[in-house]
Amino acid sequence: MLDQAQRILKDVFGYDAFRGNQAAIIERVASGGDALVLMPTGGGKSLCYQVPALLREGLTVVVSPLIALMEDQVATLDELGVPAVALNSMLEADAQREIAERIRRKEIKLLYLAPERLVQPRMLAFLQRLEIALFAIDEAHCVSQWGHDFRPEYLQLGQLAELFPQVPRIALTATADKRTREEIVRRLHLQDAERFLSSFDRPNIFYRILPKDQPRKQLLGFLAERRGDAGIVYCLSRKKVEEVAEFLCAQGFPALPYHAGLSNELRGYHQKRFLNEEGLIMVATIAFGMGIDKPNVRFVAHLDLPKSLEAYYQETGRAGRDGLPADAWMAYGLQDVVFLKQMLANSEGDEQHKRVELHKLDAMLALCEETRCRRQALLAYFDEVLDQPCGHCDNCIDGVQTWDATEPARQALSAIYRSGQRYGVGHLVDILLGKDNEKIRSFGHQQLSVFGVGKALSEGEWRTLFRQLVARGLADVDLEGFGGLRLSESCRPLLRGDVRLELRREIPSKAAKPGASPASSLVRGEERETWETLRALRRKLAEEHGVPPYVIFPDATLLEMLRSNPRSLADMARVSGVGARKLERYGQAFLDALQGATAPVRSAGDLRHELVSLARAGMTPAQIARQLDCTEKNVYAMLAEAIAEQQLSLEQALDLPEALLEEIQAAFLDGEGELPAVAELAPRFAGRVPEAVLFCVRAALQAEFEL
Ligand code: ADP
Ligand code: ZN
Repeated sequence: MLDQAQRILKDVFGYDAFRGNQAAIIERVASGGDALVLMPTGGGKSLCYQVPALLREGLTVVVSPLIALMEDQVATLDELGVPAVALNSMLEADAQREIAERIRRKEIKLLYLAPERLVQPRMLAFLQRLEIALFAIDEAHCVSQWGHDFRPEYLQLGQLAELFPQVPRIALTATADKRTREEIVRRLHLQDAERFLSSFDRPNIFYRILPKDQPRKQLLGFLAERRGDAGIVYCLSRKKVEEVAEFLCAQGFPALPYHAGLSNELRGYHQKRFLNEEGLIMVATIAFGMGIDKPNVRFVAHLDLPKSLEAYYQETGRAGRDGLPADAWMAYGLQDVVFLKQMLANSEGDEQHKRVELHKLDAMLALCEETRCRRQALLAYFDEVLDQPCGHCDNCIDGVQTWDATEPARQALSAIYRSGQRYGVGHLVDILLGKDNEKIRSFGHQQLSVFGVGKALSEGEWRTLFRQLVARGLADVDLEGFGGLRLSESCRPLLRGDVRLELRREIPSKAAKPGASPASSLVRGEERETWETLRALRRKLAEEHGVPPYVIFPDATLLEMLRSNPRSLADMARVSGVGARKLERYGQAFLDALQGATAPVRSAGDLRHELVSLARAGMTPAQIARQLDCTEKNVYAMLAEAIAEQQLSLEQALDLPEALLEEIQAAFLDGEGELPAVAELAPRFAGRVPEAVLFCVRAALQAEFEL
């Protein structure tokens, strides 16, 4: 079976090898077993049910929570030549009936449905009359009430186990934690499911977190090397979203706003543009989230701090789904902490809930101030151990210096305490630096013992220190909303001198390169032009077909074309992501684009060479004829030659039903001695088998028996 799966992987999807657990999962599911699959975003979950769908008899039903996700998948499968449809409430009754009819006629391999639709009694009854190959439950964490994406409709999916006891089920999610996992098993009745847990690491993402200084300028610095890349910039408030989007546009970076204050229509329009165009930046609140399936989001930038590591990981996880280098970039500052803590304090909800949320925020802050490898810290939070520093985050690359901040920290805490635990950072820094200004004098703060004791540090260094004290929970932000600092319980040991404090040393922003990362943009300078040519062609084809560009070819495939520079369709067929169908549809167009549209003159030998490769790649003679721009008759003649010379097997050249093939072979082998000529047998097969096919079968026999 794995052989067959491998062939489907190559022929249909154009990929050479399965990734990670894919092969094991496919084997399990295709042979009728249940599976629970946890795989990070971009890990390749779709293939885990799409390949079994093609291996098994009958219809595969895929449950998915969002129409946009379904449409994307159906479009992708359509481009691959796999018959798939999505049923949703937007369709007219007529269209729905037609789809049902096609399903009954077994013309459809995959049916995408929203959960609420699947569990309608009529739908269940309809499905029970069909042969069902597999149920795939995508985004299975939606069944969990603890998770952030809970959908009550998912709860009803449990009944599939009883209604379709013979049909294997596969549940998939990118949400890691154990509690959710157990809930999926319980609620979906997946007790017998084999579990496939992958690492949640996203090795292609480069993490960088830097202290906020002049955030817009920092963002521009980051974007400078990423012109033309698509990305998401997250901000907390609607107002800021609007402002940043405008700012980016003014700076020559095409950007669109997205937040809950915009009309549904406008949001939908912006989302569509983001998916369908290249190089657009979406500036968004977290309202822009689930359903962003765009694989070539090259960066996710946070201009405001997320509330938890869960949120951070999910949001940054939208970058680089295609496995190519991508960036997670964030600028954070004390204001973020103050703001979030206040929001939390003023939120509804019981005390225990607030404690949990506060705890989560602290974990987020700890990552910001982390002095070791960011990836190690992140994964550790999700209970995963990464043995070595990753070598692919800012801390690993730049190194982190720490310094003994015990003394200044005590001075800072002392300044908070002595001034009455009500002033914000600005004023506290003025006290430490001994500034002579009106506010100081009006409160008599020049009398404090800490007045002017901190001249060894600069204003910026003091601000950093206060931020770090808050981030570490040594000082608290007042909850009335004025940003005043108070001491917290946990600062006592430090004040008493029982413990020392090591802090991350901030690199002055002039020296730091906010944007530099090994990921920096996919293509190097001299490749840019060809890259843009390929992208332009892809965009044009996408428009013609009414699909997003990445459905035509993912960036990874385009990039491989760029680097491997295929010269022929045969070369093209070897590019990862170019399956038979796409080779046929788009191969020549991309070759032309690569070669500047001047097709070289082909020799007969070249032609034969290409023909052999195309046949091996699974193309039919008619497809080959179109590709090579010659008649079908010619193709058959060349196929017969190639078979005779044993460059191709008959199976590679033609797709004949077994029984018919045997009949033809028997006819040829009927007499004694030499094989009869095609002309002799042709009348017997007239109307059933073209002569050209007889030539090929004869050639194969000749090769086999050396006749
Ligand atoms: P997920 O649903 O887990 O986020 P997808 O199924 O969308 O991920 O896959 C992410 C990308 O990786 C897609 O572009 C997909 O075609 C590609 N991909 C999946 N499996 C393979 C593979 N075995 N080889 C190469 N590319 C793959
Ligand atoms: Zn690292």
